[in-house]
Amino acid sequence: MKLLLENWREFVKQEIEEFLPHGEVRAVERIGSSTLSPEDKVEQDLEKYGYARDDDERDFDIEVQIAGVSNEDVEEWAFSEEAEELENSYNYDIQLTIVENWRKFVNEEIEPITTLRIFDFDETIAHTRSETRVKAPDGSEATLRDQKEFEEYMNAAAAKEGVEAFDAVDALMGLGYQIDLSDFSIVKDPDEITVITDILRNFPENSKTYIMTARRGNSISAIIDYLDEIGIDAGEVRVIATQGDSKGDVMATMMAQKIMKDTGKSNINKIEYYEDSQKNIDDVLLKVCNSEQLIDIKPSNFELIIYKVANIGGEYKLEKIAC
Ligand SMILES: [Mg+2]
Repeated sequence: MKLLLENWREFVKQEIEEFLPHGEVRAVERIGSSTLSPEDKVEQDLEKYGYARDDDERDFDIEVQIAGVSNEDVEEWAFSEEAEELENSYNYDIQLTIVENWRKFVNEEIEPITTLRIFDFDETIAHTRSETRVKAPDGSEATLRDQKEFEEYMNAAAAKEGVEAFDAVDALMGLGYQIDLSDFSIVKDPDEITVITDILRNFPENSKTYIMTARRGNSISAIIDYLDEIGIDAGEVRVIATQGDSKGDVMATMMAQKIMKDTGKSNINKIEYYEDSQKNIDDVLLKVCNSEQLIDIKPSNFELIIYKVANIGGEYKLEKIAC
């Protein structure tokens, strides 16, 4: 069941201000049927749909009153991936209402985000007992018990089939491999990795915190539930499931989306990245640290600091890799 997050107003405000950094959010309110009592909701459902809906099916209709943005901005939000993600992950249906449109010097108001904190999930925040079961087109079967076995199998299968994608899963499935990833839509039998979660649970000023997992999209609510379980304020964390896409590409895009108008540079000047997979670390070094594409938009003081999570004899340690 999806609940309204405790600090939903702040969370929604942050999401909108991140999307429209020159805007200024004046109010965040629930509107429409979201404001009804549970009894009234049921009554309205019966009238409208003929049955009482589960809370999961219900949207929270939220109006954000915002100054300093244009009608185009409002439209851009309405059709954005960000809006869709809030809808899919939280059932938040957010519409923007412009309360003032007069401000001339919006650039002055851009908040320096400064730091992105990006955490991988599996084997970084938690150790889980997720297995992947595979059946190849030749009839052979395998159970891959951890990330290492997973990567070895996928690399070998990709080489065998001539697949060159960053993540071979989708291509292999297209070739008839049956790959059961259902353990990754839940958080299976987790052990918290406290050396990381102790860092995660403190939210520094001027930073945004993301969990970026290569898991598929249907894993997001399980990860948010797990954060709740271990006492981390999920409203402070955005979860991104890259569906196997390159994390380096996603980070480069995040930087390129936050360009300050006056300098032409990204307002992200530091990325702290916590990750166990060397494959992902190499990818991020290539696409963020050594990227030619980002040269023009990187602030001169830009820093990428990678903390590689390693399990050494049952103890988790962090190894620092600087850009
Ligand atoms: Mg991992």
